[in-house]
Amino acid sequence: MDISYILNELGEDREQYFNAVAPPIIQTSNFACNTVAKLRDMLQHEAEVHFYTRGNNPTVTMLEQKIAALEGAEHAIAFGSGIAAVSAAVLSQVKAGDHIVCVKKPYSWTNALMRKFLPRFGVEVTMVDGTNPENYRNAIQPNTRVLYLESPNSFTFELQDIAAVVAIAREHSLITIIDNSFATPLYQHPIAMGVDIVVHSATKYIGGHSDVMGGIICAKREVVNRIFEGEFMTLGAILSPHDAWLLLRGLRTLPVRMERIAATTRQVVAYLEQHPKVEQILFPFIPSHPQYELARKQMRNNTGQFSIVLKTNQIEQVDLFCDSLQHFLMAASWGGHESLIYPVSASYSSGNYKSSLPFNLIRFYIGLEESDYLIKDLEQAFAKI
Ligand SMILES: *Cc1c(COP(=O)(O)O)cnc(C)c1O
Repeated sequence: MDISYILNELGEDREQYFNAVAPPIIQTSNFACNTVAKLRDMLQHEAEVHFYTRGNNPTVTMLEQKIAALEGAEHAIAFGSGIAAVSAAVLSQVKAGDHIVCVKKPYSWTNALMRKFLPRFGVEVTMVDGTNPENYRNAIQPNTRVLYLESPNSFTFELQDIAAVVAIAREHSLITIIDNSFATPLYQHPIAMGVDIVVHSATKYIGGHSDVMGGIICAKREVVNRIFEGEFMTLGAILSPHDAWLLLRGLRTLPVRMERIAATTRQVVAYLEQHPKVEQILFPFIPSHPQYELARKQMRNNTGQFSIVLKTNQIEQVDLFCDSLQHFLMAASWGGHESLIYPVSASYSSGNYKSSLPFNLIRFYIGLEESDYLIKDLEQAFAKI
């Protein structure tokens, strides 16, 4: 299916709503039936019909159809946040006594789900260095059910060889789940590589304007319908029709935003690569990166995140560099119009090291600004340290 068709036409039945170009926000909690027979039918197919907005809503359905198509998945289901989608996907595949092998250093709340939340319900998790797929194989136990991937992963942007991990999962009849948020549904297609369940934080690139939160799960229809009847309907972490509408609006410009972000990021990285105050750049799309070939093989393009390690052994210098930047906002999240930094030094306080990452690591997100504008800002901040 053409991306242009998906983003501009798929799921949009304009004659149903006055030929409006922008879809309507169907702000209703319930949908009425005029006969008992209709009601009976609705109850039997709740996953497929518009009956109650905690289940399905037409504005949300439109978003689900488009993202499923972008991912090449049979079906999708939207949530009120990325972590709701991650949690529902994982919970749907395990029960007490089961075991998960998860990539180490995943997104922070995925880490909390794996390390703190699931153990309360008798689910064990082993975290592995995902850069070698054999580490997944070696961690498999008789009670393993799920191999969990996040590629690239948070902060260090390490990749997992998706096809290789899928092959291992298939040998052992295990389910694979991947968080594809960093790569977007445009630049990496895990379903085509055999992954069972793909999740996204739609808050990031899909929304794209730092004004909405959402999450999505893409998988086979049968898997999505099982999640609908289980985790989705019981935990109730739904996406509101208005937020679905904002995400639909974000989707319209996803390809142009990503192209621009990819190009600007390469320019900023090229500048940082030659800078004497940068010790290391964590970005798989530079030829010197050990996973460069894999990045080229399984991703269509780079996106806007990378980290740098500043050449300093003083935390004050890191703080000074970050405080000196005038056009990079300091904030959590990413994927919007605005460039951001997130210094690991913020998690360090008076010798109380809370992070497993070095204090001089700074995560960058490149937004939609001009590259010169960002590079000049970096230049003046480097001059201060
Ligand atoms: C932000 C993020 C999430 C969580 O998404 P929310 O929308 O903030 O709940 C999950 N995975 C990754 C990789 C993220 O960056």
